[in-house]
Amino acid sequence: MAKKQFKAESKKLLDMMINSIYTHKEIFLRELISNASDAIDKLYYQGLSDDKMGLAREDFFIRIDLDHDARTLTISDNGIGMTDKELESNLGTIARSGSLDFKENNEAKENIDIIGQFGVGFYSAFMVSDKVVVTSRPFGEDKAWRWTSEGADGYTIEECDKPDRGTEIVLYIKQDTEDDKYEDYLNQYTIAGLVRKYSDYISYPIKMDFETTRMKAGTGIEDENGNQIEPEYETITETRTLNSMVPIWRKNKSEITDDEYNHYYKERFFDFKDPAAVIHTKAEGQISYDALLYIPQKASFDYYTREYEKGLSLYTNGVLIMDKCADLLPDYFSFVKGVVDSADLSLNISREMLQHDRQLKAIAQRLEKKIKSELLNMQKNDRDKYLEFYKNFGLQLKYGLYDSYGANAETLKDLVMFHSSSEDALVTLEEYVSRMKEDQKYIFFASGESLDKIDKLPQTELLKDKGYEILYLTDNIDEFALQVLHA
Ligand code: ADP
Repeated sequence: MAKKQFKAESKKLLDMMINSIYTHKEIFLRELISNASDAIDKLYYQGLSDDKMGLAREDFFIRIDLDHDARTLTISDNGIGMTDKELESNLGTIARSGSLDFKENNEAKENIDIIGQFGVGFYSAFMVSDKVVVTSRPFGEDKAWRWTSEGADGYTIEECDKPDRGTEIVLYIKQDTEDDKYEDYLNQYTIAGLVRKYSDYISYPIKMDFETTRMKAGTGIEDENGNQIEPEYETITETRTLNSMVPIWRKNKSEITDDEYNHYYKERFFDFKDPAAVIHTKAEGQISYDALLYIPQKASFDYYTREYEKGLSLYTNGVLIMDKCADLLPDYFSFVKGVVDSADLSLNISREMLQHDRQLKAIAQRLEKKIKSELLNMQKNDRDKYLEFYKNFGLQLKYGLYDSYGANAETLKDLVMFHSSSEDALVTLEEYVSRMKEDQKYIFFASGESLDKIDKLPQTELLKDKGYEILYLTDNIDEFALQVLHA
């Protein structure tokens, strides 16, 4: 069988994984479990629109099997599976090269952290294994395929047998070294702990057989004459579900640490940085939902491009029904990331219907208020943080005013800021007005290319000499924003 080579950039990432001195190698398990869960999701959603597929949610599961003698850890799922072509394109190339780009532009020490925070996917398996064998049978097909690789020197794909649909990944765990006890990954308690730590909220059961040794009944006790009966032991195997399956947004705030909130954000929304703010809110009553929203610190590279898609992930009872539901966010808050889970939405609701769903509109309105008040709170109590946020997203807020010919002025008026001559900083219109001199009838503003240029205009100097505060407008859109606000 001919060995195929990895695509160039996959090879680089692979090398990075194999030679990783990264201390949290354990994250490989989280990555493989997430992939398994995604694969089940994909099949489950297909099944939702096609009764003939005969899929029930209860039938889905992820399994972990440990074999100490063979030194293998196996993760299997009964998800959608992969064809030979998909094995080739998914595992022979790396889809998300974000982490790789990052690596090349940064110092070695920083990468190490990036590996931990950013989803690195399938290749992380090589941090703990000498050899990885992926056997997969796609849904609805008889054929199965096996992908085998011992690392950077390439991989093979061959046809094989597999009784059930889905994917099975066998990791041949490395031998221990002085620094790393890979052996731990063959220990059932370590693995159970890692699943709880990283994958607790995965919405399908993650099952594992537990072997426990116990004393046989009727042994190890005294007989009727008071003589000790020799204890005899037996090993029993029971299958346990390791995860609680409660998604993070459905837990109580008190159960979640800041780290967990931040970690979830970075993993889920592919950000390197912690969010600027977290909004976790529950509503009960007429409309009931759980929402977990995040305000990023920085705009993603595609934020101000056409490619950027706004929206929140919409779930009903923990089941994803739409990845980016645009109707849940107004354009001026399009930078917000997050999840909304409402039991009251119908599961097979279509996109078109959703647009008109009153429930959804009501949720969107409430979330908008929450986002606004969180931002105002930041502006008031942590001005530096707000300014950093504003540097990234202020333009979007101003567009919000422009877009609607002022219809959103009420929502946005306190959030937009302008440069003030007297403060030499950004201020809100409200702050400006509160400082106006008694005889001052107008809001003074001056437009120009840069703050410096405006500052040197004769008219500006005149007003400044008289002690008036002036707003300096450097964005084209500033003047319009100010007019709308002051109307
Ligand atoms: P990512 O998950 O970020 O796309 P990965 O390297 O982890 O990147 O996986 C690459 C691709 O391989 C996935 O997008 C998916 O299409 C496929 N894949 C990985 N694991 C499985 C699995 N257990 N079942 C089906 N497809 C999978």
